[in-house]
Amino acid sequence: MIEEIHCAGCGVAIQTEDTKAPGYAPKSALDREMVICQRCFKLKHYNQIQDVSLSDDDFVKILDGIGQKDALVVKIVDIFDFNGSWLPGLHRFVGKNDVLLVGNKADLLPKSLNPNRLMNWMRQASKELGLRPVDVHLISAKKGHGVDELAEKIDYYRKGRDVYVVGCTNVGKSTLINQVIKRFGEEDEAVITVSHFPGTTLDLIDIPLDDNCNLYDTPGIINHHQMAHYVDAKDLKLITPKKEIKPQVFQIHPQQTLFFGGLARLDYMEGNKRSFVIYMSNELKVHRTKLEKADDLYANHNGELLSPPNEKTREMLPPLVRHEFSLRDNMKTDIVFSGLGWVAVHGKGGRVAAYAPKGVAVSLREALV
Ligand code: GDP
Repeated sequence: MIEEIHCAGCGVAIQTEDTKAPGYAPKSALDREMVICQRCFKLKHYNQIQDVSLSDDDFVKILDGIGQKDALVVKIVDIFDFNGSWLPGLHRFVGKNDVLLVGNKADLLPKSLNPNRLMNWMRQASKELGLRPVDVHLISAKKGHGVDELAEKIDYYRKGRDVYVVGCTNVGKSTLINQVIKRFGEEDEAVITVSHFPGTTLDLIDIPLDDNCNLYDTPGIINHHQMAHYVDAKDLKLITPKKEIKPQVFQIHPQQTLFFGGLARLDYMEGNKRSFVIYMSNELKVHRTKLEKADDLYANHNGELLSPPNEKTREMLPPLVRHEFSLRDNMKTDIVFSGLGWVAVHGKGGRVAAYAPKGVAVSLREALV
């Protein structure tokens, strides 16, 4: 019988076949006296964690497990896709535990956006979604902005308890944890470990906070309705802003349509001529046409002139669904396309129809800028 080898770091059974599955180590690693899996290897030598995603079943087990602990929950959302990256149902699981809500990717926001206004909006939006966080904090995990202050807040709100960091995939949770590890790593690299979450096959990264408590990084949860799941990696790169968004202003007449690549569409049905200000990736092409020509344009040119998607990936995209909205008289409104960004509309009244792939949310909110 072949003896099973276990990782000296986390104890998982070592396998050499599937690079994505737990316990993977390259064959060459088996010659070593102490074998560790690739995940622990990266953690130990590069202070890097690998992203793992989990099934809905494991997701429920994790949330349920957290609900039964006395802990602080740190929930990360992508402020550029607040609703898309929200974990619906989290509030039902966390029980009495406090939740600290962290908005990541603050570096993408236009300078004209007042951070306090955004945080107030996040509080309000959370309340409407059933969650009352103890505090709200903005960071840029990528740039390291606000991370030290976040560490202080975590220490303050945890009140001697463990901390669980949760978030859906792509919110930047790994980037944040790597920043945290960097800060701890300098003093005591060896103590960061990986452990199993009870009842699942999943590993958690444990970062010790003091003699008794740990910060646990839970695996990224897949939110199926995010735009990110309907485009390929190249298109995702294009629609995800990499730096501060530069708003684009269009003067729009009624009966005109804007296409955002072929991923979304906005018809201006009724109202006065007015400006539409677009807050989306600077690389996403906006195409203007007459409303009467819009259907034909989409039918004949989606994946070409209207891109992304491209000729291959347009097949992955669910059909566009139409959402009709009346605009309020005295409110500057944002029309939010989950995962893509938003369009701010000024002025009085009017009607619009916004289209996004089936399953991807479109919503209205009071303008942030
Ligand atoms: P995870 O799936 O939640 O672990 O997310 P990752 O840490 O892998 O990040 C997902 C994507 O978001 C990557 O392309 C990151 O470069 C990017 N990202 C993470 N944090 C930030 C941030 O603070 N600002 C910006 N602009 N991008 C970020």
